[in-house]
Amino acid sequence: MADKIPYKTYLTEEEMPTQWYNMRADMKTKPAPLLNPANGKPMTAEELSAVFCEELVKQELDNDTAYIDIPQEILDFYKMYRPSPLVRAYCLEKALDTPAKIYYKFEGNNTSGSHKLNSAIAQAYYAKKQGLKGVTTETGAGQWGTALSMACAYLGLDCKVFMVKVSYEQKPFRREVMRTYGASVTPSPSELTEVGRKILAEHPGTTGSLGCAISEAVETAVKSDGYRYVLGSVLNQVLLHQSIIGLEAHAAFKKLGVKPDVIIGCAGGGSNLGGLISPFMGEKLRGEADYRIIAVEPASCPSLTRGKYAYDFCDTGKVCPLSKMYTLGSGFIPSANHAGGLRYHGMSSTLSQLYDDKLMEAISVEQTSVFAAAQQFARVEGILPAPESSHAIRAAINEALRCKQTGEEETILFGLTGTGYFDMVAYQKFNDGTMTDYIPSDEELAASFATLPKIG
Ligand SMILES: *Cc1c(COP(=O)(O)O)cnc(C)c1O
Repeated sequence: MADKIPYKTYLTEEEMPTQWYNMRADMKTKPAPLLNPANGKPMTAEELSAVFCEELVKQELDNDTAYIDIPQEILDFYKMYRPSPLVRAYCLEKALDTPAKIYYKFEGNNTSGSHKLNSAIAQAYYAKKQGLKGVTTETGAGQWGTALSMACAYLGLDCKVFMVKVSYEQKPFRREVMRTYGASVTPSPSELTEVGRKILAEHPGTTGSLGCAISEAVETAVKSDGYRYVLGSVLNQVLLHQSIIGLEAHAAFKKLGVKPDVIIGCAGGGSNLGGLISPFMGEKLRGEADYRIIAVEPASCPSLTRGKYAYDFCDTGKVCPLSKMYTLGSGFIPSANHAGGLRYHGMSSTLSQLYDDKLMEAISVEQTSVFAAAQQFARVEGILPAPESSHAIRAAINEALRCKQTGEEETILFGLTGTGYFDMVAYQKFNDGTMTDYIPSDEELAASFATLPKIG
């Protein structure tokens, strides 16, 4: 190995962050507030508290406090699987024959297999502290439901998961992991909720969507005594908890005396990307350093690259507050592809504002090229990546190949958000050569933009 950078860099216990970082505190233009669909006014803490835990509502609305202490109980839980390694991808660099230096921050080293556990434990902790009986949520590909089940089991909370029907049927093993951790798992849309019955009546035979499962989970929380709803992405509070990823990476780079030039992450609802970039974006916002930051989304669900920046519903049943974000419209039903956790119609309002302010870039990539990158990565670096994470791998490889052409020795960091063991049906299609790409037409997008509420 050419230079002295170790293959993996870990922080010591003393070097571990003890506070989350809230990027919003350093943003000149703050993300737009959530609006109450009934009156078009910003949601108050009181209104939000009917759905979310009190402390999480505070975090959601806090645009000013830069650093927030991580409670000791959460730090203790983090110790079970953190710090995550910052890995220098020497083998990938060699395979690509690139002068670029590639690093990835690997979040797949826990049973849930993804970064989602970082926020699941925080949200479950605040629910427990409030004296609640349990929480409800939705899950798409299943990583969030698994992470939340693990966190709830650890704290002794009940956990009700609405799982998008197509995933429920295609990923029986994911479902069983959640049940092993004590969660109840219901395929969505279901007959258990008013909104589920309505969606089933309107679209019989539907295989569900994330937006639809969110509506069911929210309704269940509001109607059950001692329950609140928790969400694994999109919200400001989730980006706050995920800042642990970026803070660790930032500290590890400092320890190595290295500064990344390009930071890349896949973007579904924006939580891993928002977390990874947090401290770097903070420096950028304060004018202390500059970085190229790239969000990577599937061409089949291109919220940032082809969406509109507008107020929209966060869910299909329109029971949630309105959020200003890059969106394809809450009526957008993504094609049955394998981007799993990247199939949400909208995007974090914080990342949407940063993107609108041109502080970050976005690109979209097609799924066969994503799986080609996943395969190449798995063969040289050993880890079998999640399809979602592989969007970031694709972009990182593209950047490294650009460096090969120009001879630039740039340092690239990407977020490797998880492992892909439950995605073998998708890998099988890729290996069999039967995987296809799907790009929605302008007409299709126009039809879903027509579902945008007329506000703002
Ligand atoms: C959920 C998930 C994502 C996408 O969610 P974000 O909120 O955009 O981070 C990416 N990778 C993995 C492995 C996931 O489970």
